[in-house]
Amino acid sequence: MSTTRKRLFIKTYGCQMNVYDSERMKDVLTPLGYESSDTPDGADLVILNTCHIREKAAEKVYSELGRLRPLKDEKAASGGMTIAVAGCVAQAEGAEIMRRAPVVDLVVGPQTYHKLPELIAQAHRAKGEALDTEFEVEDKFDKLGSDRQVEGYSAFVTVQEGCDKFCTFCVVPYTRGAEWSRPVDQIIAEIRALAAKGIREVTLLGQNVNAFHGAPPSGREADGAWGLGQLVRHVALIGGIERIRFTTSHPRDMDEDLIQAFADTPKLMPYFHLPVQSGSDTILKAMNRQHVAADYLATIARLREVRPDIAISGDMIVGFPGETDADFEATMELVRQVNYASCFSFKYSKRPGTPGAAMFNQIDEGVKSQRLAALQALLDSQQVAFNESMIGKTLPVLFEKPGRLDGQLHGRSPYLQSVHVDGPAELIGQIAEVAIETASRNALSGRLVGTKRSAA
Ligand code: SF4
Repeated sequence: MSTTRKRLFIKTYGCQMNVYDSERMKDVLTPLGYESSDTPDGADLVILNTCHIREKAAEKVYSELGRLRPLKDEKAASGGMTIAVAGCVAQAEGAEIMRRAPVVDLVVGPQTYHKLPELIAQAHRAKGEALDTEFEVEDKFDKLGSDRQVEGYSAFVTVQEGCDKFCTFCVVPYTRGAEWSRPVDQIIAEIRALAAKGIREVTLLGQNVNAFHGAPPSGREADGAWGLGQLVRHVALIGGIERIRFTTSHPRDMDEDLIQAFADTPKLMPYFHLPVQSGSDTILKAMNRQHVAADYLATIARLREVRPDIAISGDMIVGFPGETDADFEATMELVRQVNYASCFSFKYSKRPGTPGAAMFNQIDEGVKSQRLAALQALLDSQQVAFNESMIGKTLPVLFEKPGRLDGQLHGRSPYLQSVHVDGPAELIGQIAEVAIETASRNALSGRLVGTKRSAA
């Protein structure tokens, strides 16, 4: 295996699972001599790690490939540039990409990127034959191992992939395959190795993370699969790991054990992302969400009962086919009841191949825009109020890096808010108490109080 230094540029689109996948691709390629570059200019290998969630995802990939073509031509005289398309667009449209974009040397799906070294070699030998979009998720994690290169103090760890729920607006079940969970031992080994490298906070990732049902540490099927609550408690035992989060959850998979984990595991942060998408039962049914608004509200109430300091974030879609004014008002009412700390909100847009795209009762774009503006005004006011409610409180902050100003530090609160304080650089990588003095829509600031709470 050659270890000549080569430059690697990865452009990551979409969700945190793609961010994790990009990091693991770097891990796989480092032994081949690839070093990260922050520009595609002069790179030996460019990977577009694509996302299929947004509208016109494939078109965006083709435009990016168009921009890469002259760079590839320039690099032809000095070793050449290999261009790879990875991720969910690759999974959905791999063969079409190879056909339509000759600039692409290889296409790799989300479950086979551990094979990048052999696909690159194959692409160098025979252009146009390096395509791998199989669903071999178990093999992938075995091959990747637990050794990761990490920077900073927080890391994502994929624990579950895929989805069987088939919400009618979503492409994930088609691009990421059926639900699958990593074995507990494999996850724990990865997190132990991360802790040894200074990671203090882990976010357990999955398209349906709370559907997690991993093989138990004993390896014996008879002992039963572990749920996410059990996994969280086990991760909390790992020395050095101070904070645990998980995302993205589905309301239907919230079991009592996971809710109890918020009560009995202080390291599990009191900030929980639980998408609902709509407050109307009619629309939830049309979306195939398999629950009603009251179920969601009951789960939130139960979480608040067991962990009174918990804050909730969510996802909302407006303008799903058939959404009436009354349906939209039900969404607004649910938002008022939940009182979100933050919430992503989008206009519905068709994803090719999903049932929603074929529904006849699509909503006018102007109506969608009006509804989104009204919803976002409400969500913004809730977010500002939530941040302002922090003033006067003392929060533990994990300091990540220097702030923009001299002598300033930047960190994160338990609620993922950016926090700025004046303080010594030695606090970077540690958790210390901060008395919050000011708040804006996106950040808090305050002053250090007391002594540090944990050492890096
Ligand atoms: S639960 Fe629904 S929205 Fe989430 S990944 Fe599965 S199909 Fe998509």
